[in-house]
Amino acid sequence: MSKGKSNGAIVLSACLLGRPCRFDGKDKFTPELAFLLEGRNVVAVCPEELGGLGTPRPPCEIRGGHGADVLDAKARVLSADGTDRTEAFLAGAHAALERAIASGAQEAILKERSPSCGVTSIYRDGALGRGPGVFAALLSRHNIRVSNEVRALRRKMK
Ligand code: SF4
Repeated sequence: MSKGKSNGAIVLSACLLGRPCRFDGKDKFTPELAFLLEGRNVVAVCPEELGGLGTPRPPCEIRGGHGADVLDAKARVLSADGTDRTEAFLAGAHAALERAIASGAQEAILKERSPSCGVTSIYRDGALGRGPGVFAALLSRHNIRVSNEVRALRRKMK
């Protein structure tokens, strides 16, 4: 597909569609989103599962920066037990990006506050802070527009 043209495909954090892929084995099903996206080519991805992290899994957070810093090797992703999961997060983000590009999607709706999918806020260095997660930062670098679920719903309801 030529650059700048949308085929209607849209990337979505899989947990928002009801897949129980969160670290705690639960989902974040958001029925209003499923309703609004009916008929669209929805590409549901969970970058953490694509990176080989099982479900359930220990929660992770970024240390020393945000998702873009992880992409630039300036920050790391650690699980609650101190294990370095940076490589798995990077591998999963790239695998999910490949799916996004293959679909032709030019926009994504992602789950806020996740160290992968968070768009404007994530848990980092022990507290909620500003910044994208690893997957959101990677999509942005490939010119795929990212919104969190709250902003996307507000925009689409107008
Ligand atoms: S990585 Fe993204 S899709 Fe997977 S559970 Fe976390 S927020 Fe949802």
